[in-house]
Amino acid sequence: MARPDPSIVILTGAGISAESGIATFRESGGLWESHSLEEVATPQGFARDPDLVHAFYNARRAAVRGVSPNPAHRALARLEQALPGQVLIVTQNVDDLHERAGSKRVIHMHGELSRALCHACQARWAAPDLMHAGDPCPRCGKPATRPDIVWFGEFPYYMDEIETALSACTTFAAIGTSGQVWPAAGFVQRARATGARCIEINLDQSEVSGDFHEHLIGRAGEAVPAWAERVLAG
Ligand code: NAD
Repeated sequence: MARPDPSIVILTGAGISAESGIATFRESGGLWESHSLEEVATPQGFARDPDLVHAFYNARRAAVRGVSPNPAHRALARLEQALPGQVLIVTQNVDDLHERAGSKRVIHMHGELSRALCHACQARWAAPDLMHAGDPCPRCGKPATRPDIVWFGEFPYYMDEIETALSACTTFAAIGTSGQVWPAAGFVQRARATGARCIEINLDQSEVSGDFHEHLIGRAGEAVPAWAERVLAG
């Protein structure tokens, strides 16, 4: 049976933005060393102390504004330009560095720092630089605004679209992700089951390294441009 058009699904995690200067979550010096996950990345934490949670994401938003895409983000944008319609980025990152590098087909499965969400009426809008507990929703007026971030215990966005892409792709690459957050950690098994070649690009082994056909160990800023050149060379 003929395979569908070649398609490349690329899962990215905090590691791809590390060389831009955005801290990852789990490594030493990462974000969780100064903030507990329960405090700032769960609905319960937000209910307990919305001021703290808004302050955390306000700081993340400001940090992202001050940095730029790195060679890894730019290489993925070039790959998409060279293979129109064939490259999909599924990112766990809440920054906008893929878009700022020029990528067009980007799914933010864990939400975006640049978006706000009303947890009363589900309205979404562009987040202001600073959000505060009690800010009214522009649609329903209730003081129920929160960052549009998928917290632990919540369901990631666009899972149907991601599932469809994984079941049709011929190449699956995971870049800078530790394989500790589900369901993203299971995407490699899903892609592999449908025959995709699976490549992991990371500084180190991840929790799910054993599921990949190939590993490129190194910094994303060097390894991703090299891999993209190889894909384009056929
Ligand atoms: P993680 O922090 O758990 O893992 C980061 C991974 O990247 C590690 O495996 C590490 O070895 C690797 N890495 C670090 N520096 C690298 C580099 N220069 N080149 C290549 N690899 C490198 O992150 P995760 O797997 O994405 O999962 C945790 C959650 O973190 C996600 O849900 C995501 O929403 C969130 N997060 C996002 C951002 C962001 O938007 N930039 C930042 C921190 C955390």
